[in-house]
Amino acid sequence: MPSLHADRLRALRWPVASLPARITTLAVAATVATSLAITWTSVRSLDAFLGARVDEKFPLALLHAADRIDGWHSGVHRDVETFARSETLVGGTPALLTRDDARARREIETYLSFVLERFAHFEALFVLDGEGQERLWIGPERRLPPRTLEQLSGAVGELVSVTRPGGDLDQIATAQISDAAGKPVGTLHAVVRVDDLAAQLGSQHLTRSGALIVTLADGTIVHDTQGRPTQPQRPGVRPGVAPVTRSYSGPDGERLIGAAIHVPSLNWFVHAEEPHGDAFAPIRRVVRQILTLNLLIVFVFGLIAFRLAASVVRPLRALGEGARRVAEGATDVRVEVAGTTDEVALLARTFNSMTERLGQQREQIERTAETLRLKNQELERLSITDELTGLHNHRHFQEQLAADVRRADRSGYELSLLLLDIDDFKRLNDTYGHAAGDAVLQNVAEIIRGVLRDSDLPARYGGEEFAILLDAGLEGASSLAERLRLAISESPVRLVGDGDSFEVSVTVSIGVAAYAGSRAELFNRADAALYRAKTAGKNCVEIDGAD
Ligand code: GH3
Ligand code: MG
Ligand code: MG
Repeated sequence: MPSLHADRLRALRWPVASLPARITTLAVAATVATSLAITWTSVRSLDAFLGARVDEKFPLALLHAADRIDGWHSGVHRDVETFARSETLVGGTPALLTRDDARARREIETYLSFVLERFAHFEALFVLDGEGQERLWIGPERRLPPRTLEQLSGAVGELVSVTRPGGDLDQIATAQISDAAGKPVGTLHAVVRVDDLAAQLGSQHLTRSGALIVTLADGTIVHDTQGRPTQPQRPGVRPGVAPVTRSYSGPDGERLIGAAIHVPSLNWFVHAEEPHGDAFAPIRRVVRQILTLNLLIVFVFGLIAFRLAASVVRPLRALGEGARRVAEGATDVRVEVAGTTDEVALLARTFNSMTERLGQQREQIERTAETLRLKNQELERLSITDELTGLHNHRHFQEQLAADVRRADRSGYELSLLLLDIDDFKRLNDTYGHAAGDAVLQNVAEIIRGVLRDSDLPARYGGEEFAILLDAGLEGASSLAERLRLAISESPVRLVGDGDSFEVSVTVSIGVAAYAGSRAELFNRADAALYRAKTAGKNCVEIDGAD
């Protein structure tokens, strides 16, 4: 069937068939599309904003760190120079260095020990003579190689990095010691703790996973805020160039983002870096939040759409079911109306009033049909009845006779005809009037009905003549004719005229014939018998074939 194919094709093209599913799909699709568009837009602008912030924050952190390193550096030198210019050292150092004066040594030791106690960022203090020989050491005992000492005595105002045997790096600051006349006599050195610098560096510009790494020009790490001992390969930085933020791969292959700056006063470098993901973590967080929110919105709106669609479809289904029942012929179908204002409720109300009117109209039609049926019955009855006597009329008699004749022909049943004529009826009419004649006709008809059986067929054949068809042979018919004649002659008719009533006796003549294969002949023979009865003096029965 082509329509079935078309349905199947439609189902293939549009698999979401039910209305709630379609509306839900639409709502979910619309919400998802909107959310994706909003997510895309907001993530893009956030990405741009965060990118600009990230680009700025590394240079900012580096400038801050470089500034702190400069400050720390000059602070260290200022302190060491101040100690070198102290009275104790200016006065005592020549005596210590030339003759190893015990008193001077004691005084200098006391002073430097005091200084070491007060200034926690100095780990050790020591004095070298003009030849770079160590002459006094305050602090944890440590041997420095002679080459280092030589290098140190010429590095006044500089910070020299010295690698310890264990690999740790010492920073050593140097200041000139002069005698009272201002002549250089030796040098004062301080081993500086870098922890102090670390505390000052801070890393408030970076995330917790971010790191600030301070290195020497050769890349040796001075300090790493993440405490990593080895130095990962980082993109190089040229002295004097402003820091530029870059993305690069870390030692484990992880993606990093960072920048570096040169600190000219020390010829050090500072790197600031973060894992790329952490730098852009806010985006991931926002995307996660937006997606969660979107999912929630999609779910909520999907659910609302589904419930809404279901609430629309429920009454529609009820309407469909109601319409189906109406189509099957029911009229007592009512659909429940939920809500008052929406179109479906309106439709349901209209449907209900439609079925109600349909029911009323059906009742009306049934009543009309019943009336029609009764009227038709009455018409049918009237069409076969003689109005005056209530017996069958001529036409119906003829029809019945035709049917009975056919039946008699088929089955061989006997059939007889009586023709009955009221005697001298004209005279009766003339004497008592037409109304009296009618009354006599009715009376005779009444007697005929009383005598006959239900299976017999009496009719008013015309004027004052009656015909009676019987399921009987000539003998039965003759005896019935005789009984009829007698009954009529013995029942005078009471008539009313001019205020008084009187009785009139009525007699009839009857001709009897039996069916013998011809309907016309049956009539003719009955008529002939009747005629004989009239001529024989009336009030008698004549039987066909009896003469
Ligand atoms: P006979 O004894 O030979 O039968 O004489 P008759 O007078 O009965 O017969 P006739 O045929 O001469 O008269 C029949 C009369 O019946 C004539 C007519 O006026 C009357 N008649 C016919 N139909 C009706 C009717 O419906 N009502 C009345 N009152 N009279 C009728
Ligand atoms: Mg007659
Ligand atoms: Mg007559």
